[in-house]
This record gives sequence, structure tokens and C-alpha cells, in this order.
Amino acid sequence: MVGEIFASIGAVKTAFDMAKALQGTHDATQRDRAIIDLQRQILSAQEEQFALAARNRELEKEIADLKSWEDEKRRYKMTSLAPNVIAFAERQDVNDRSPAHYLCANCFAAGRKSFFQQTIRGNRLDRYKCNSCGEEISVTKDGPGHHYSALPPTGRMDR
Ligand SMILES: [Zn+2]
Repeated sequence: MVGEIFASIGAVKTAFDMAKALQGTHDATQRDRAIIDLQRQILSAQEEQFALAARNRELEKEIADLKSWEDEKRRYKMTSLAPNVIAFAERQDVNDRSPAHYLCANCFAAGRKSFFQQTIRGNRLDRYKCNSCGEEISVTKDGPGHHYSALPPTGRMDR
């Protein structure tokens, strides 16, 4: 980006120098050639300016997306669904009316909001899959000495 800005400034400076040199030219052919070169330089500078403006818009959108993700991230907290099974769940103090859900920890770390979808609801084991990265997790409903509650059929998760 900085290199592109300097290139753009360089193109404008070259055009300016060429215009200045034109003042001392009395030969018509030489002057016409210089004008064509000058027009070419101006076009080149304009193209670079358009490219920089487009890149600037892209970067502004990236920043806005990052800020939006930062806000979204604050609504979730890391939670353990089973030993070594990590997901992100909505914080208790977040009070929107969305149904209970888990977010994939892999995708969360990569800056993406991706939901775990239940693929199997068993008597003792539930399975969930992230459709973004393909991560699958198993959650035992009641193992020996542990009780990890999976998402309830309706309503909010018990945390
Ligand atoms: Zn994922």
C-alpha cells in the first residue's frame, strides 16, 4: 500500500516535470511527442489513483468487518462440553432471543462465526458438526463422575 502511494506520487511528479520541460520546447514535433507522453503519464497516475481508492475501500470494509467480529466475540465465552471438547457459548448476560447454540472453537479462533449443528441425538451421546471447517464433537450426556449437559431440545442452554 505504501509502495503504491509512492508510485502514484512518482507518476504525478513525472507528469509535473514533463509539463515544466514543455515550457522551454519550441520544436513542434518534440512538443507534440512530449504532450502525448504527458497525457500517458496523467492516465497512468489516474489509474493508480483509482486502484488506490479501490484498495482503500477494501481495507475500510476489512476494518469494519473486524470491528463487527470483535463486538460479536464479546457475546460469547469459551465453554467445555466434555473433557477436551471446547466450544463457545453465548454469555449469560447476553439477552437476545436467539435459541441456544454453540460456536465452533476452531472457526472462532479463525475469526468466523460458525454454528455447531447437531448430527446425532443419542440417549447417552450427542454429536455436533461445524459445517464450515468440518469439526465434529461428541458430548456424553452423563459419563461416570461427570455430567455435561448438551443443548436442551428447546429454550436456552443451562449454564
Ligand atoms: Zn468450524
